[in-house]
Amino acid sequence: HVTKKRPRSLLPAPEPSSSLPPTIHAGLVAILGRPNVGKSTLLNVLLGTKLAAVSPKPQTSRYRLLGVLHGEGFQIGLLDTPGWPADPQVDDLGRRMMRETREALDQASFVILMGVPRLPGRIEMELIEEIASRQTPALAVINKLDTVRKGTLLPVIAAYSELYPFKEIIPVSVLHQDGLELLLERLIAHLPKIDPLFPADQLTDRSERFLVAELIREKVFALYGKEVPYATAVLVENFVEAHGRKDLIEATVYVERPTQKAILVGRGGQALKEVGVAARPEIEALLGRPVFLRLWVKTRPRWRRESRFLSSLERQ
Ligand code: GDP
Repeated sequence: HVTKKRPRSLLPAPEPSSSLPPTIHAGLVAILGRPNVGKSTLLNVLLGTKLAAVSPKPQTSRYRLLGVLHGEGFQIGLLDTPGWPADPQVDDLGRRMMRETREALDQASFVILMGVPRLPGRIEMELIEEIASRQTPALAVINKLDTVRKGTLLPVIAAYSELYPFKEIIPVSVLHQDGLELLLERLIAHLPKIDPLFPADQLTDRSERFLVAELIREKVFALYGKEVPYATAVLVENFVEAHGRKDLIEATVYVERPTQKAILVGRGGQALKEVGVAARPEIEALLGRPVFLRLWVKTRPRWRRESRFLSSLERQ
C-alpha cells in the first residue's frame, strides 16, 4: 500500500544515531533521460508496483516521483524525473519539468542516465552537462535492447563512454526484464554503506491523490492521446475514505478546448466511462481497496500558464 501524506522533503530527519555501524547500501538515485526512454517503466518494474504513469507517447511524466526500493542489505530511493523537454522554452509546464529534474539532481547522490540504443543527441548532452556540473557519480543504462541487433550497441556504448566517466554502461530491456538483475546488483555496489534513509514502510513521497490523478491521466493518454495529447490535466477534487466500504474518488479531467471536451466525454458520456473502466482496477490495485470513481471533464483554456493551478496539480 501507499504510505500516505508524506512531507514534501524527500529525506526524513535523521534518527538519533545508534552505536551500530551503518550496514546497508543506500542512496537517492535520480533516473534521467529524454521522454519515452522507459524511466517510469524501470521504476515500476524495480518496485514491482505500478506507481508511475507509463505511456508510449512522450511527455507523460511531468513530475518527479520517488519510489523506495527496500531489499536485503540495501535501500534505494529511486527518483523518476520528467523527460527533459525537447523545446525547453515551450511553456511554464516545460520549464517546471526541467526544474523538477534539476531538483532531483540536486538531491541525488547517484544518477542513472537512461538512453535507447541510439547515439546520444542534444538532450543527452544537456543532461550530461547537468550531471557533470554537480560531479554526481552515474551509470548509463541503454534500454530497449530488444529493439536492436547486438552489434548496433557497441558504437552507442563507445559514444556514451566518451561523454562522461560513467561508472558502468549497462544495456537492458526493461520490458523483457533483461539485464535488470545486473543493473540492480551494480547499482547497489556503487552506493555507500550508510544508515537507512527512509522508514521501512515508505514506498513513495506522493499522496494517494497524486498517484490516482496520474493513473487517470495515463488512461486519458492511452485512449485519447491523438485527439487530446498534451492538453490534459487531472485533479482529484474529492477523496473520501470509507473504511470497510468503497472509497469515493471524484476527479476532474481538464482540457483546453471545447472540442477536446466533446471527444473526452463522448456520446452519452461513453468515452469518459471508458477512462474510468480502465483506471479503476489500477487505482484499486495501488490502494489495495475498492473504490467508486466519478469523473468530470472541464474546459480550462489556459491551464498550462496558470501558475497556481499548476502548483495545485503538483501538490495534490
Ligand atoms: P519515460 O517517458 O522515459 O518514463 O518512458 P515510459 O516508461 O513511459 O516508457 C515509454 C514507452 O517505452 C512505453 O510504451 C514503454 O512500454 C516502452 N518501453 C519501456 N521499456 C522498454 C523496453 O525495454 N523495450 C521496448 N521495446 N519498449 C519499452
